[in-house]
Amino acid sequence: MLLKKKIKQMREKPREHCAIFGVTCDDLGYSVSNILYKGLIALQHRGQESTGISILKTGGKIFTYKKNGLVSKVLKERIISQYWGNVGIGHNRYATTGAVGFKSSLYMQPFHFKNNEIEFSMAFNGTIANFDEIKKRMDEMGRIFITDTDTEVLAQLIGSIALGTEDWPEILKLTSRLLDGSYSLILMTSEGDIYAIRDPLGFKPLCIGELKTEQRNLYFVASESCAIDAVGGDFLRDVKPGEIVHLSHQKDIHSELVIKADRTAICQFEYVYFARPDSIIDGVSVAEARLQLGMHLAKNDPILKNSEIRENAIVVPVPDSGRSVAVGYAKEAKLPYVEGLMKNRYVHRTFIMPGQAKRKIAVKEKLNPIKSIVKDKDVILLDDSIVRGTTTQQIVSLLKEKGGAKRVHLRVSCPPIVSPCYMGIDFPTKGELIAGRFQSQYGKRYIDEIQRTIGPDTLLYQTINNLTQAIGKSRNELCLACLTGEYQLKSVQKLAELEESIVKSRI
Ligand code: SF4
Repeated sequence: MLLKKKIKQMREKPREHCAIFGVTCDDLGYSVSNILYKGLIALQHRGQESTGISILKTGGKIFTYKKNGLVSKVLKERIISQYWGNVGIGHNRYATTGAVGFKSSLYMQPFHFKNNEIEFSMAFNGTIANFDEIKKRMDEMGRIFITDTDTEVLAQLIGSIALGTEDWPEILKLTSRLLDGSYSLILMTSEGDIYAIRDPLGFKPLCIGELKTEQRNLYFVASESCAIDAVGGDFLRDVKPGEIVHLSHQKDIHSELVIKADRTAICQFEYVYFARPDSIIDGVSVAEARLQLGMHLAKNDPILKNSEIRENAIVVPVPDSGRSVAVGYAKEAKLPYVEGLMKNRYVHRTFIMPGQAKRKIAVKEKLNPIKSIVKDKDVILLDDSIVRGTTTQQIVSLLKEKGGAKRVHLRVSCPPIVSPCYMGIDFPTKGELIAGRFQSQYGKRYIDEIQRTIGPDTLLYQTINNLTQAIGKSRNELCLACLTGEYQLKSVQKLAELEESIVKSRI
């Protein structure tokens, strides 16, 4: 019972899927606020609920501004000119289930920490699996918490360690050794340094870049390389798993590998869905990975051998993330690629919209089939993933009922998602995941049951082997936990096994 409660707490605890961006410039007369704006706009797809920046003003004072809303709504011209300084960090936040009601700025980032000894601001993407344990220890030490976020626990931990030393690399090394989790973190000190830290398994992406001109030198750190492109910078490299990188406008870039694990666990979902196609993550182009995912699906698709279907087939992507996959599929299958679904760009992504009801309305508002293209056709529909199944079900039904498609053949670039993510991404519980629930309920024939429920005439998922091949990384380099139920963080594996038994006990 106690452990069931713990699982519930994990779900209800605010967890984020976010974007982080930082910049430091050696020209004290130059303000980086506008660069923060551009970097955060490029990363808007990673979080749309709140936006925040911290700027270091001349004299060593940190000023933080954060509000609910998109970057363009929050960082208005007036704010950009008001928050003026040569070093800054920023954050886009997406609050997961349970955090929706927390509209207070206390739950937004960057998290600005200040006491008599130390001042810093930090932006965090991820989750700390040993959150409860660290918080309990901090509580015992008399620390007072005003939120129940990982970010505040982390800030308090850093604040406590800083009581013993003023050496920032040492403080961060000690901190990272105490953490068990999946995270990328940037921290700006009141001395004007930025530190970038990635967890030892490298779940979340993080990279650095630079821009050198005759007038000034700038260094960047970002969740994705597309943000470095957006500010006109040159991508330098990824922050390595377990590494702390120090970006200083006085001392350039220094780094130290603090923890070296014998494997990595880069989130496969970054390549499949989350990241922008123009990003490069850990040496792999996201666009190229998606193209390869489509090609692998076509290579293994039995319907391409059926001449009646082939002659009548068109390849249609679910916009936008299905596009690169559909291009790859069409190229390999030598079939026409067509845009058979019109997307209203002014409705936000459904997957990261909190709440099932909001998601359902958003699909209908967002997508409309183009009848003149799909009518009477065998539509080979390429989607990035099936999570709850309701969105996909609606798209299939739109194509058939509204578009008049003869048949819909659903092809999914991500293998069946059977287990929740405890690594800071808003995945539903196992019972809410269609593949997770059906696998527990129907065993080997669960894919047939998914097809029957969602409604396509045929259904083909990517295999895990083809997924790893398409990305170009081995099973030992990627996190595949939501596909296999095998978690790399030990504390998480235990919770996952318990949730599995709870789902089974309910069937
Ligand atoms: S469980 Fe899935 S979504 Fe979560 S980090 Fe691993 S691969 Fe990514």
